[in-house]
Amino acid sequence: MVKTTNQSGASATAEQLGRSEFLGTESGGPIFFQPCANGPTGVTILGATGSIGLSTCEVIRHNPDRFYVHGLAAGHNVAQLFAQMREFRPARVALSDSGAAVELKAMVEGVRGDEGKALRNIEILVGEQGVCELAGDGAAGMVVGAIVGAAGLKPLLAAIKTGARICLANKEALVMSGQLFFNEVKKSGAQVLPVDSEHSAIFQCLPRDLQQNLGFCDLKGAGVAKLLLTGSGGPFRDTPVEQLAAVTVAQAINHPVWSMGPKISVDSATMMNKALEYIEARYLFNAGPDQVEIVIHPQSVIHSMVSYRDGAVLAQLGAPDMKTPIAVAMGFSERINSGVAPLDFTKVGTLTFKQPEPERYPCLYLGIEASKQGQACTTALNAANEEAVAAFLQEKLSFLGISEVVAAVLDQLSGERALSLEEILAVDAKARQLAQAEIAKRGR
Ligand code: NAD
Ligand code: MG
Repeated sequence: MVKTTNQSGASATAEQLGRSEFLGTESGGPIFFQPCANGPTGVTILGATGSIGLSTCEVIRHNPDRFYVHGLAAGHNVAQLFAQMREFRPARVALSDSGAAVELKAMVEGVRGDEGKALRNIEILVGEQGVCELAGDGAAGMVVGAIVGAAGLKPLLAAIKTGARICLANKEALVMSGQLFFNEVKKSGAQVLPVDSEHSAIFQCLPRDLQQNLGFCDLKGAGVAKLLLTGSGGPFRDTPVEQLAAVTVAQAINHPVWSMGPKISVDSATMMNKALEYIEARYLFNAGPDQVEIVIHPQSVIHSMVSYRDGAVLAQLGAPDMKTPIAVAMGFSERINSGVAPLDFTKVGTLTFKQPEPERYPCLYLGIEASKQGQACTTALNAANEEAVAAFLQEKLSFLGISEVVAAVLDQLSGERALSLEEILAVDAKARQLAQAEIAKRGR
């Protein structure tokens, strides 16, 4: 029986954590647990107040017999976290912003009666350290990684160490650390399941022994010729390229199909999101650079595909709603309710596909090239992009400036290593510094 040790040094069996029935794989690969065979599984949601965090709460609402909320972590959205504390009564919450934590404590103090007593029993942790402590306390059988950006890396590494099931939405953390991430997964026996819809689709189209061996798959051995990563092409897929210079923030965050947080919405408009997903796919499925292909599919009905050696192509279809991939990851290997309505094929209409144009999506090609160069380049790409997108959202950089800044940062870096956490954080910091200088040069 696998044991985990929590912060106070007490160890809990997998059964006590709700991860009871351990399954061996036919190939003799890693053991996998089936959530909820012996009562509900405790879930910690990192990034609980965001778009993915809220959808995760919705999946939990649909499955009270399977899941309960152990912990919730967020940045500074006090009102949302407070509402979630009232509804789910977790054991612990964490806010990375210390000012927000003070505000939250005051709100809790202000609640009278039995509810006030119950809320005061919820431990409030503070700062990056508090978020990591919650992520790594070992008291949750499942951790949903939905913090946006590089801020999610340390909490995820803490969660991986506990051997929990990791439902991974936070693609930036994987892009910046791939090899280290999966080395830690191997050491602890944690299970990684993708939440990103494209990776969930590919996951669903792969055979079981590959599903249970993410990070270390043998695609060729399983007869896989290619992973076909689909993308909608974002809000500017039909905009004349010469008009992209004038794109505003409001236009960029208005995604035609998906409703998401602001950073990923901008990434979808530049298709840096697809570049990050290409890198994410390479790490998750242990794929070579030519084993992943990107296809524009504006209707977003097919969420991605796997093309096999024998000519068969398996696709996963569904409504564009993140609750489906969240439910796939949380429920695996069972299919659970997500609250998503089934796809109505009479309303789907025509499905179309095309190749992404390099002149429209420079970020996509920067990302593919960075992935070929190796880990330090993808770490730098992610950091430079985060700085550039933040500057764009603050109207300090133009839309086209995002790809210019990322390209300039990658040009200036060479010979870096990003294998250990220290090296990764050093490359990340250096790329951010270079990006700030590039943003200042183009400042508006
Ligand atoms: P969001 O901006 O809506 O939410 C981000 C969450 O992270 C919030 O709860 C915020 O409080 C929290 N957060 C931010 N900084 C933090 C910090 N330093 N410490 C702790 N918490 C912090 O973002 P989102 O759209 O939910 O995306 C979250 C992640 O999921 C991203 O990595 C994104 O790429 C990925 N993802 C999102 C979608 C989607 O449909 N929204 C789809 C696929 C993947
Ligand atoms: Mg995606």
